[in-house]
Amino acid sequence: MELKDKRALVVGLARTGTAAARFLAGRGARVTLSEVRPESVVAAEAAALRELGVGVECGGHDDSSFLAADLIVLSPGVPLDLPALARARKKGIEIISELELAWRFLRGTVVAVTGSNGKTTTTALLGKIFAEAGRHVQVGGNIGTPLITLVDTAREDTVNVVEVSSFQLEAITSFRPRIAALLNLTPDHLDRHASMRDYVAAKACLFGYQHGDDFAIFNADDRYAAALAPEVRAQRFWFSRQRRLDVGTYLENDWVLYADAARRDRVLERGDIPLKGHHNLENVLAAVCAARLLAVPCGKIRAAVQAFEGVEHRLEFVTEVNGVQYYNDSKATNVDAARKAIHAFPGNLIVILGGKDKGGDFRLLREPLRERARHVLLIGAAREKLAAQLADGFPVERVETLVEAVARAAALAQPGDVVLLAPACASFDQFENFEHRGHVFKEEVRRLAARRAS
Ligand code: ADP
Repeated sequence: MELKDKRALVVGLARTGTAAARFLAGRGARVTLSEVRPESVVAAEAAALRELGVGVECGGHDDSSFLAADLIVLSPGVPLDLPALARARKKGIEIISELELAWRFLRGTVVAVTGSNGKTTTTALLGKIFAEAGRHVQVGGNIGTPLITLVDTAREDTVNVVEVSSFQLEAITSFRPRIAALLNLTPDHLDRHASMRDYVAAKACLFGYQHGDDFAIFNADDRYAAALAPEVRAQRFWFSRQRRLDVGTYLENDWVLYADAARRDRVLERGDIPLKGHHNLENVLAAVCAARLLAVPCGKIRAAVQAFEGVEHRLEFVTEVNGVQYYNDSKATNVDAARKAIHAFPGNLIVILGGKDKGGDFRLLREPLRERARHVLLIGAAREKLAAQLADGFPVERVETLVEAVARAAALAQPGDVVLLAPACASFDQFENFEHRGHVFKEEVRRLAARRAS
């Protein structure tokens, strides 16, 4: 793809858009960046881009810039139904996501991971596994490092492990991962995708450009994810916690096995996995399958899994205070993730829920809470809906803030209990993002620990 002197418009000035604009400018394109937020909010980023010769337009999307472009590149958060995009599309202007742009220039092998939950954990684990095996590995995409920034360092022998969100999949036209894994599909982002069907369709795009000699990995225990399998062209592999498989990874007698037409390997034991919860076992199964498909020896996989402690804010152990353990799962921003977190403990839970509602069905939390929670604390904008949908079976109490919730949980907890932050909601009502929420929680817990120690 020739970029020299092309008129490129990048939509969205956040980390990914900025990286895409830099890349395009570096390759000689004439770049404009269009941002809906006012200049005052993005002043520093805008100034830095202007220095590179990028035109920056803030405070709204100017139709004429869209219509003057030869190529439009979208940041992950940008809605595809922007009116300016519709007009550009009608004029026949090419519109692609940053993922697609990166793909066109990226060398090496691509392993792509998508799903509703577990993407970051699985992507990070795969990065560790390939590193352990001595491969030249790069980890990027939705996980925080835009894929486009990895292009210059990629080599023919590089394994690029890419976390892919459904937003970016909506605007690909050739992205073809050697291995594509779909972890699970649960209703999330329904505020953005019109329906579950649209959401599933967006995820299905991941496999759309694969060839017959590529690999597609599906969760055999997830009915939505499995339903997509018959449609793909690639060779199908599976993972399952629940049943033996002929091709893929599964659990048998506490061993993780990998099977294909030629072999059946015992890769590692369940006890080798330090991460808690069935959901993390699924992430490990998916990662093992991808790693074996790229011929990583079982011993290397085992060593990497044993050493992998998970990713911050994902069912992260904070500390123990007076015999009470505190876990931070701030990233549990949807009902399914919160359910999985609750299921990861046998009982004696004090659970902190709430935040900004994403349209989730909190009734799905009733049963696991009834089985495992001694007390539930509700915070944030979704408090009332949560209280109404959870009904009874366990004590439910509303508090104002997360800080208050930690204090209340500490007062209620007895030795042997676990205090779990697994909000089932987005964080934007009281926090900048889920990381901010997780940090506030951890700081408060550590403060508690310091007070108890003194
Ligand atoms: P993603 O990148 O898809 O958001 P993360 O690995 O960041 O996934 O995890 C998001 C949330 O979902 C966390 O709360 C985590 O504990 C939970 N989670 C992780 N893996 C899974 C899974 N396979 N199924 C359900 N929930 C999961």
